[in-house]
Amino acid sequence: MSARRPLIAGNWKMNKTGAEARSYCERLLQLLGDGEGPEVAVCPPFTALEIVAVALAGSGVWAAAQTMHEAPSGPHTGEISALMIVAAGARGVVIGHSERRAAGETDAQVGARARAALDHDLTPIVCVGESLDHRQAGETFSWLSGQVRAALAAVRPDEGARLAIAYEPIWAIGTGQTATPEIAQEACAHVRAVAGERLDPAVTRVLYGGSVTPENTAGLMAQSDIDGALVGGASLDPESFARIVGAA
Ligand code: PEP
Repeated sequence: MSARRPLIAGNWKMNKTGAEARSYCERLLQLLGDGEGPEVAVCPPFTALEIVAVALAGSGVWAAAQTMHEAPSGPHTGEISALMIVAAGARGVVIGHSERRAAGETDAQVGARARAALDHDLTPIVCVGESLDHRQAGETFSWLSGQVRAALAAVRPDEGARLAIAYEPIWAIGTGQTATPEIAQEACAHVRAVAGERLDPAVTRVLYGGSVTPENTAGLMAQSDIDGALVGGASLDPESFARIVGAA
């Protein structure tokens, strides 16, 4: 049996008010019941983070932020720190999402943010992934290697079980063009191998993200190097997200 409990995380991106977030969580908890299953996390916008953490308290489902700054405080307008995320009651944070990288987040910041998150006992879900241009140029593996090494540069060898790495090919995010289970497996195996240069690959979770749906989850989860999913669009509806959790 794998030492890695599957993790299904829902990234709401810039969706849902606080009131919508609260009723979503109530419905999600009803749908999930208390059955043993994968670990489940919900990643709302900052404005709903504390509401979600309170609504999920005691359930085992945890709240995570969608990004954070590496500094504890300071002149960083519009940013929030690990300390603030913890104070809001969340247990994790997505770092290096391609939509943040496209807005200027660098590999060095991803590494510093992963370190800061771990220092505050948050579970970082660190995203890596190639563009269609990189894939077509045959650069997928070298690109992923660079992103994984930078993200883990300050992570200590015994911290593999405290984080997750999400392989999210940019061409699959929000496009409906899910990677085939074979393509996702090949890339996730590579990510695990590169992470294994620093961390114990047997305990380090590697997730797949990119147009995951209730229909394609089981095929992806059947792959030996896929330990869960980071779900965008299909996590916005609690029924659909609960079906993904069920399929996993
Ligand atoms: C994401 O936002 O991380 C994502 C994978 O989105 P989607 O599932 O909509 O492709």
